[in-house]
Amino acid sequence: MENLTRSDFEALDRNDVLADFAKQYYVPEDHIYMVGNSLGVMPKAVKQRMDDVLEKEWADDLVSSWNCNHWFELPYRIGNKIAQIIGADDGEVVVTDSVSVNLFKLVAAALNIQKGTSRSVILSEKGNFPTDLYVMQGLTAMLGPSVKLVTVEREEIEDAITQDTAVVLLTDVHYRTGHLLDKKRITELAQSKGALVIWDLCHSAGALPVYLNDINADMATGCGYKYLSGGPGAPSFVFVAKRWHDALEQPLSGWWGHATPFEFTDDYSPARGIGQMLCGTQGVLGLSALEVAIDVFLTTDMLLIREKSSKMTDLFLRLIAQQCSSYNFEIKSPQKAAERGSHIALGHPNGYQIIQALSAHSVKGDFRAPDTLRFGLTPLTLKYVDIWDAVSRLKDIMKKETWKDPKYNLASKVT
Ligand SMILES: *Cc1c(COP(=O)(O)O)cnc(C)c1O
Repeated sequence: MENLTRSDFEALDRNDVLADFAKQYYVPEDHIYMVGNSLGVMPKAVKQRMDDVLEKEWADDLVSSWNCNHWFELPYRIGNKIAQIIGADDGEVVVTDSVSVNLFKLVAAALNIQKGTSRSVILSEKGNFPTDLYVMQGLTAMLGPSVKLVTVEREEIEDAITQDTAVVLLTDVHYRTGHLLDKKRITELAQSKGALVIWDLCHSAGALPVYLNDINADMATGCGYKYLSGGPGAPSFVFVAKRWHDALEQPLSGWWGHATPFEFTDDYSPARGIGQMLCGTQGVLGLSALEVAIDVFLTTDMLLIREKSSKMTDLFLRLIAQQCSSYNFEIKSPQKAAERGSHIALGHPNGYQIIQALSAHSVKGDFRAPDTLRFGLTPLTLKYVDIWDAVSRLKDIMKKETWKDPKYNLASKVT
């Protein structure tokens, strides 16, 4: 294959149908931000929306806003918008709480559906995102010996699904490697064995098209603050397929999930439908920011986003091979674009120092202990030429051994 040059990337930018979307975001001008997989850049519309929510809705209308400014409907309204991005129907998605809390509710609800069977296993992947495993450890500790968490390597998942499996909890795109699972295949297999499947879409929503109903998905949750750019700590979304709504029973039975919360009765009676996944009062500021971030996605097509994302991750890997082959980076992401999400992971024993040095040279990636460098390539906010420039700077840092400077070895609390 011919060597790429910077002008190849400039040409791609000239023909990029998504190029204008960057104008809708505060894209940093002084550095290349490749961490949209962890915290997406801020959509410009958020500022105006927040001004309205603060100055008009909160300051002026105060408590009436729950009705007159439709605060009460926000979790449903935004849920219906996210449904369009993840292949769900109206009334199947609600926005609330964090992914960690939603995982607890979903797995508990799935176990409730399996009540009366002898199935005792929650199956997940070794090395899944920590919170997915930690929350399951908490849940199984609470439920006692009748339920246990079993984790297996990725290659062993399909064989590990048996008549004992109650729930399969998997992350679609792996947070470290970017490896993308075959949701359709695994869902079909698990259901054929009588298990329910819960998909964690944290690194999928806003990064690639997801067709939950086409694959007959049972339940899912995901992040608002990563690719969707909903803001730091943005609320999470939760999906339950309509066919499970009548059987839905989740244990965080707060008043917002009640059928008639404003009757203030003593006894809990669950809302029919996705509303039961709500627990308590929602953070209106976070919801409002997330909504306008989602609105940007509704003006484009996830297939176009996926196409640019695949091209970008391909080019990133090609450039690493072309420019950095002598620096011992291990390619941790799959080589085929169809098998990965929208970030690239490289392994290097000095990954931490390299990421710090890159950051000082205006390229922001992130580091996941013990040795992974991650570069999130967000199609709506990055230019092709950013990839050329980022890899060129990486090469420079490796060639000059800039990363060996002790100042790049200082630890931060959040990496
Ligand atoms: C980011 C991420 C989470 C985050 O959970 P929070 O409760 O929002 O902190 C969970 N799972 C996966 C796979 C993630 O990538």
